[in-house]
Amino acid sequence: MLKLAPEFAMKKLLAQIIQNGFNDPEVIKAMASTPRHLFVDDALMMKAYDDVTLPIGNNGQTISQPSVVAKMTQLLDLKEGQKVLEIGTGSGYQAAILARFTRRLFTVERLSPLLELAKKRHKNLELLDISYRLGDGSNGWPGQGTFDRIIVTAGAPSVPPAYFEQLAVGGKLLIPVGTREEQRLTLYTKKEDETVSFNKYDTVVFVPLVGHFGFNS
Ligand code: SAM
Repeated sequence: MLKLAPEFAMKKLLAQIIQNGFNDPEVIKAMASTPRHLFVDDALMMKAYDDVTLPIGNNGQTISQPSVVAKMTQLLDLKEGQKVLEIGTGSGYQAAILARFTRRLFTVERLSPLLELAKKRHKNLELLDISYRLGDGSNGWPGQGTFDRIIVTAGAPSVPPAYFEQLAVGGKLLIPVGTREEQRLTLYTKKEDETVSFNKYDTVVFVPLVGHFGFNS
């Protein structure tokens, strides 16, 4: 059980994120309409509106920290109608927020129980336009053309080549790159001449991207 009603706990959390300097009304609105307590196990509900990473499922995976979700969503600079790929569906929380910006959302998860639970949560929230794929997302989503935005919510040792190939011209790819212990959020932009530029942002700690172009396990 939450100590405060979910609406109040959510308001308090968002106020804290804003107070810490975050300033993107559209992202705050999307987060305000996405109840985080519905994306965590019952036993952790009382912590759902703390600004912390929480465990999900039985495989050592996590739901990201709300302030990191806010920052990553802002960095993506989403526009209506864009085709977006998320790697690492996890609880489905970040996907639910992305779905407030676009109806063309594709998300990939390697662990079936997490993907099935995320689908169920999205259905309950009437987020019905999301496409799901079970598999190794270090290959992106082959056969699906290019994406305007790619967001990776697991830490990679380097950028899997498929992500650059599947990124549209003018598109942005946001990925934590580094070691298993910590990564830098890195935002790549594909230019008209198909070269990419990049900027580095916060140091973050994500669970590893496990797969052919990720970590071994
Ligand atoms: N976006 C998630 C959320 O909102 O709850 C948080 C994701 S969690 C930090 C990272 C997720 O990436 C885990 O669910 C993990 O199973 C998944 N993952 C790791 N390697 C993957 C891969 N190669 N392909 C797809 N998913 C992967």
